[in-house]
Amino acid sequence: MSFTVAIVGRPNVGKSTLFNRLVGRRLALVDDRPGVTRDRREGEARLGDLEFTVIDTAGLEESAPESLSGRMRAQTETAIGQADAILFMIDTRAGPTPTDHAFAQIVRRAGKPTVLVANKSEGRHAEERRLQAYELGLGEPVAISAEHDEGMVDLYDALVAALPEQTAAQRHEAEAETRGPHAIRVAIVGRPNAGKSTLINRLIGEERLLTGPEAGITRDSIAVDLAWHGQPFQLYDTAGLRRRSRVEEKLEKLSVADALNAVRFAEVVVVLLDVDNAFEEQDQRIADLVEQEGRAIVIAVNKWDLKEHTPGAIGKLKQQADEKLTQMKGVPLVAVSGLTGEGLDRLMQAIVDAYEVWNRRVPTSALNRWFEEAVSANPPPAVSGRRLRLNYITQAKARPPSFVVFCTRADAVPDAYKRYLVNSLRDVFELPGTPIRLMLREKANPFEGRAKRKH
Ligand code: GDP
Repeated sequence: MSFTVAIVGRPNVGKSTLFNRLVGRRLALVDDRPGVTRDRREGEARLGDLEFTVIDTAGLEESAPESLSGRMRAQTETAIGQADAILFMIDTRAGPTPTDHAFAQIVRRAGKPTVLVANKSEGRHAEERRLQAYELGLGEPVAISAEHDEGMVDLYDALVAALPEQTAAQRHEAEAETRGPHAIRVAIVGRPNAGKSTLINRLIGEERLLTGPEAGITRDSIAVDLAWHGQPFQLYDTAGLRRRSRVEEKLEKLSVADALNAVRFAEVVVVLLDVDNAFEEQDQRIADLVEQEGRAIVIAVNKWDLKEHTPGAIGKLKQQADEKLTQMKGVPLVAVSGLTGEGLDRLMQAIVDAYEVWNRRVPTSALNRWFEEAVSANPPPAVSGRRLRLNYITQAKARPPSFVVFCTRADAVPDAYKRYLVNSLRDVFELPGTPIRLMLREKANPFEGRAKRKH
């Protein structure tokens, strides 16, 4: 599927340099004087395995529509109108200027998938300055240097995240030619005797049945590779550790460290419970550990073969899970039997789904639409007689989904209010069961330090 991307930003931030880099020809006129590029140009761009149409715009300027810069602005708005996504570029060395802020607002209003491109990020202090650009409220600033051809991989990733559907077809083709899909790293943790080893052996055994004796697993010191209906996984080898620990006769001691190692290795952690005594304190502690480490989680209730499969039994377990694991509402729960192999398909599907949610990026425009509504429906309380102002929100990263709210007096925002925002985020953007991080940051004054920076 073909798509169109517009590069916008105030004059002289480096739009034409990026345009040239993407199009690969010295088409644009590049000049250090502000405002040299007057016209909107289009070209066929290539970035990694992506091909798309790119529009280079004249600099956006804040002036009356009848002037030249007014025309430039109108052209830019036309370009935004034609584009599927916007690359909004700033000059990282200059920091977000008041003009950038004004244009960020125009871009936000357009409500299209946007990548905030922090150009001229080569050299020292770039990271520090990149972080400042968060205050524009357009998501994670992607550091690049169009001039020095740096950061193009990050730009690629950001564009893929901004336009997942449009880029998917192109990428799948390329992926099939190269290495295939990503192997999801999984660990199975739980109390001793929950049935971890039995389940892992069963998964390996079933995979053999599915793929035949030749194909199949490879085992290194920490992980076993296996595939399930074409999706590769790396399974943390708890059993291997068990053998070693037995030799050292330190099983009890090792089990906690084991769990932590396994969790750190994994992208998705399966917390295995024994159906006869599910959700005991130790299970909760393990689940808390997974939450703290920010991993995706799937609860698997094991030894399901011992229970009568009455209607509503699983619903009851899910309800229990929500009550006990309040910070991960909607956590996926499946019933399995490592002994008989029942429910293994459900388990593997739940892992794939949890992985997807954990990786999700919410488009900044949709995020801010939600944010405005959520804040006006339930405004933050006044603290010591003064109103708290929440300005906007941006997703800083995925894996797990992490958000930054820019506000006045970050310390004064009550925890209950943060929980309200997290719960609403979870519902509206369908992020069940995954850890969600919400940070509050005070918005830097865009005028602060500007005079200093000029010298
Ligand atoms: P681990 O300590 O978590 O690795 O647990 P094991 O895999 O060693 O299993 C502990 C005990 O539970 C063994 O006696 C297993 O045979 C039994 N077990 C494991 N999975 C199941 C299951 O799905 N159903 C039943 N009925 N027993 C199981």
